Amino acid sequence: MANVLEKTAYRFDTQRLRAGYEPKEHNYAVSPPIYQTTAYDFRDVEHAKALFGIREAGNLYTRIGNPTVSVLEQRVAALDGASGAIALASGMAAISYTLLNIAEGGGRILTSPYLYGGSADSFKKIYPKFGITIDYAKNIENPEKLSDEITPDTKAIYVESISNPSAVLLDIDAIARVAHEHGIPLIVDNTIATPYLYNPIAHGADIVIYSATKGLAGHGNVIAGLILESGKFNWQTDKFPQFSEKYYTLRDINDNNRSFLEVFPEAPFTSRVRFNYLNYFGAALSPFDAYLVLLGLETLSERIAKQVQNAKALAEYLNTHESVEWVRYPGLKGSPYYDLAERDFPRGVGGVLAFGFKGTTAQRETFLNSVKLFHYHVNIGDVRSLIVNSPQTTHGELESYEKKIADIPENLIRISAGLEDVSDLIADLEQAFKKART
Ligand SMILES: *Cc1c(COP(=O)(O)O)cnc(C)c1O
Repeated sequence: MANVLEKTAYRFDTQRLRAGYEPKEHNYAVSPPIYQTTAYDFRDVEHAKALFGIREAGNLYTRIGNPTVSVLEQRVAALDGASGAIALASGMAAISYTLLNIAEGGGRILTSPYLYGGSADSFKKIYPKFGITIDYAKNIENPEKLSDEITPDTKAIYVESISNPSAVLLDIDAIARVAHEHGIPLIVDNTIATPYLYNPIAHGADIVIYSATKGLAGHGNVIAGLILESGKFNWQTDKFPQFSEKYYTLRDINDNNRSFLEVFPEAPFTSRVRFNYLNYFGAALSPFDAYLVLLGLETLSERIAKQVQNAKALAEYLNTHESVEWVRYPGLKGSPYYDLAERDFPRGVGGVLAFGFKGTTAQRETFLNSVKLFHYHVNIGDVRSLIVNSPQTTHGELESYEKKIADIPENLIRISAGLEDVSDLIADLEQAFKKART
C-alpha cells in the first residue's frame, strides 16, 4: 500500500522525478499513469480476504488508496525523509484530519499565532465544538519559556515553518525540543517553504502538513493536501491511547484484534488517518489531481529557486520605495528573522513577502486596482505572480484583536513571486504606485 517507501540514496533533484514510481510496474509508461478507477478486481476470494485483513498490500477502493495517488505519497515522503504519507483532497483536510487524529475525544493544541487565515479561523470556530481547544502561544518566539504554556491536556504544538502572510520564521529545533520534553508531537505546516527549502523532520518535526495546492503543485490548477510522519515519535503513551486501541478491522489471521501501532509500526499516524478519517470522512484526492501535483513536483526545485530570486529582488525594490512603510521578508538584511533565515534556509526563504502600503485606504485600493501583470487573487506559490490585500481577504476572517496578535496591520499587502522577468514585475508595481499617488 501507499506507505511502503523506497529507500534509495538518490538526492533531492533525482527523487522529485523518480521516487515512488517504477515504469516497469506500469507497462513501462514514463509518466505516471492516471488510474481513473473506483475499485480494483480481486484475483479470487483468498485475495479479497488478504486485502481486507491488511495482510497483503494492494488496492481496494480509490477512497482509501489509488496507484497514482500512492506515487504522490511516496514521492513527497521521499523528499521529506518521512516514514509514511497520505495525500488528501485539500490542505484543510490535511490539517483537520491531523488535529482530529491527535486530539479526538478532547485536548488542547498549542499554536503559533502566525497562521494561515483558514487555520486560525477554524481553530477558533470549529475545533472547540469537537472538544479541541486551541491555545495561542505567547512565547512561540521564546521557546525557552514555552514549557510554561504546556498543560497536562496539551496534545501537540502546531506551527508554520514560514508563516502566511508575514513570513515569520521560528526556531523549530528549539520548539521541537520543548514538545519532546513534554511527550507531545510538533506539527509543522511546511506549505510555503516546500521540501525544497526546508525539511521539518530534520529539524525535529513529527508531523508535516502541506497544502499541495500552493508551491508543491505550483501551477494554480489543483486543490490538494498531504500529511507526513517522521516515524520517530513514540505514540505508545497514555496521552495517545488511540494508537494502541485494538480494532476488529485490523485483526490477524487468527482473529486477534490489533492496533495501528502493531500493524503499521513505521507509520501508525498516517495509516490511522487513512483507515479512520480518510475512509469515513472521505476527503479523497482524485487520481487526476494527484497527477497534476506530480507534474508540478517535477520542476519544484527550478520553480522555487526562481521564486526566491524574484521575491528577493522585489523585497529589495520595495524596501527603499517612498510608498512603502516596511517590508517583511526574512531574506532581507535588517529583518528580525535574517539570522534564522541564514541558519535554517540555505536555499532562501520562499516566494512570499509582505509590505506596508504608505498612504490612505483609497490610495491602497487604487494601487491594487492598477496592477496589470500581477494577478489579484487568494493563492500562493503559483508560477504567476500574485498580489493581495491579506487583512481584507485571506485573513479577513480574523477579528481586529486577532489581527493584532497575528501581527497583520490593515495596510499589509502580500506578494507571491512567480516566474516572470522581475523587471516586468517591478515596472508593474511602479506604474501602480504612480497611479495611487496622483
Ligand atoms: C492554502 C493554505 C492552507 C490550506 O490549503 P488548501 O489546499 O487551500 O485547503 C493551509 N496552510 C497554508 C499555509 C496555506 O497557505
